[in-house]
Amino acid sequence: MRIAIVGAGISGLTTAFYLQKARPDWELYCFDANPRVGGTMHTLERDGFYFEAGGNGFLTNKPDSLQLVEDAGASDLLLRSSDLTRKRYIYTDQIHRLPESPPLFLKSKLLTWPQKLRVAAEVFIPAKRDLQDETLQSFGYRRVGKAMTDVFLDAMTAGIYGTTPDRISVEAAFPLVVKLEREHGGLFRGMMARRKSQAGPGGVLTSFHHGVQTFIDYLHGHLRAHWYLGQAVHEIVRDGNAFRVRSDAQEIQVDQVIVSSPAYAAAEMLKSLDPTLAEQISHIGYSPIAVVGLGWHELDHPLDGFGLLTTTSAKMPVLGILWESSVFPDRAPEGKKCVRVMIGGQRSPELVNQDESGLLETARRGLELTMGITKTPDVHVVQRWDRGIPCYPVGHLSAMERLFAEVGKYPGLHLCNNAYYGVSMNDCARNGRLLAEKITAL
Ligand SMILES: Cc1cc2nc3c(=O)[nH]c(=O)nc-3n(C[C@H](O)[C@H](O)[C@H](O)COP(=O)(O)OP(=O)(O)OC[C@H]3O[C@@H](n4cnc5c(N)ncnc54)[C@H](O)[C@@H]3O)c2cc1C
Repeated sequence: MRIAIVGAGISGLTTAFYLQKARPDWELYCFDANPRVGGTMHTLERDGFYFEAGGNGFLTNKPDSLQLVEDAGASDLLLRSSDLTRKRYIYTDQIHRLPESPPLFLKSKLLTWPQKLRVAAEVFIPAKRDLQDETLQSFGYRRVGKAMTDVFLDAMTAGIYGTTPDRISVEAAFPLVVKLEREHGGLFRGMMARRKSQAGPGGVLTSFHHGVQTFIDYLHGHLRAHWYLGQAVHEIVRDGNAFRVRSDAQEIQVDQVIVSSPAYAAAEMLKSLDPTLAEQISHIGYSPIAVVGLGWHELDHPLDGFGLLTTTSAKMPVLGILWESSVFPDRAPEGKKCVRVMIGGQRSPELVNQDESGLLETARRGLELTMGITKTPDVHVVQRWDRGIPCYPVGHLSAMERLFAEVGKYPGLHLCNNAYYGVSMNDCARNGRLLAEKITAL
């Protein structure tokens, strides 16, 4: 069997890894438009500082990334975050500690007393009867009230998806809360029931020594594939029961193709095969996001915690600031400190269009306004993702059902990328593994 994997981000690499594990006799052909593998999972090293260009790890509340790392024999590379990650902050009109427990929530000044009572009244709100999808904002306003949604859910949505609660499908992006309402009648009831039935701690943020690049390089090094790096595939067409995969430098014939590139690239390469399918894929949009890493040889601020997220109402130039050297101390040389600043998203996409010096300036302004840090950094990196994180608007899951029904008309053609069913590393690891299991079971 000959299989092409088009796009070697974590989705494509995971699929390739599990295919190779189950069927070492199969021939794998891995293409990527970039000269390196990993996609948005990439670490930039500057003078002993390690800055993630994208995500900085995964949560262990879902098993999939850990399983991938263990199956790959790479558990030695894992790095658990420091206990400081429990201390998180939200910037509204000033910086507030995110309450970790109900008593701290009651004490917190993030919401007024009537707003807190509205949150507590969630337990009396009847469950929605229909199965219609809705925005996270509409879900939040219904269940926990406007204030809780505009502060907590707004900041969280910016932190995970680079978007806002009124633009995102609750069903596609936060399936657990929908499940809690459907199965238990509400969030508090659902959480209590889960607490009783599921022992054990929540997830721990986990990464790799010196960044995600360490694991990406490990996976790359352990895959015996034919590598075509720096080769963007521009066309995939049928050839009898097989497929022809074309880049500028190669044309190969394979039995199956896994399209694991982002949706916009997948749409381009599938145009000749099926323009209607390509059109469906092209409707998936993206949030632009920029990441600015800043490092100091000396900094007075203690960076005592995980970092902060801002709310839309705060009107800050940044979505959030992650205190990286506190979360993973090996990200900065001994005694030095670094942070990563997130800019743009759907909240302020225009900011991502700035050049490197504009983005650096925006990051420093955000740092000054939210944390009072004005000291010039000794080291910086800037990474812009014009199409960084896929958007899951209301109706995303039904659109995906229709899309995958179309793909099913082409036996041997598969889509696997964060554009479809989940953006976290855990989601990509799960979807890659499940796809490999499906292909090897055929
Ligand atoms: C700023 C940021 C922060 C994030 N933070 C976190 C986090 O903390 N935790 C978490 O779990 N997730 C996080 N994520 C999300 C997560 O990192 C991504 O969803 C995941 O890495 C996507 O992997 P992928 O393989 O699906 O897609 P990608 O990483 O986009 O990989 C697709 C690959 O396809 C290649 N390609 C494109 N066009 C072509 C073509 N024509 N031919 C061949 N190859 C092509 C690309 O070069 C790329 O390598 C973050 C993402 C971003 C952008």
